[in-house]
Amino acid sequence: MSQSNVITITTEWKKPRPSIDHDNAEFWAGLKEHKFLVWKCKTCGTSYWPKAYCQNHDNEPFASNMDWVEAKGTGKIYAFNIHHTAFNPGFKEELPYYYALIELDEGPLVSSTLIGDRRPKNIYDIGQKVEVVYEDHPNEGFTIPKFRIID
Ligand SMILES: [Zn+2]
Repeated sequence: MSQSNVITITTEWKKPRPSIDHDNAEFWAGLKEHKFLVWKCKTCGTSYWPKAYCQNHDNEPFASNMDWVEAKGTGKIYAFNIHHTAFNPGFKEELPYYYALIELDEGPLVSSTLIGDRRPKNIYDIGQKVEVVYEDHPNEGFTIPKFRIID
């Protein structure tokens, strides 16, 4: 990666907090280590996000044929929209913000926010390559994954 893909923010978090639970705790722990994890099938290699049973065949009990593995952290814009209204007051300072569906190189779709100097403008930006940026919030104890456009 050409520039640092870690941002540290120490101001107070005013948005809804991420809902971290039993099924996604490992994913959020990975983000704090600056790893983007996907849920991968050990039988056929298909990746999922969030956690799911593999759709390609029968699964072992407790999804023991599945595991969290590190993804490349790159993908492409699948869809995006530009928000000019803050539906939660915590987003007001960032207007307009760019909400996107990212198709990871491993296959799964994830939703995130696009940041950085280059923002998508129109339909021709669909398919534009992106990479993950880890936004550390040390005072809050979590890291938020965001994405930015790369060449
Ligand atoms: Zn599978």
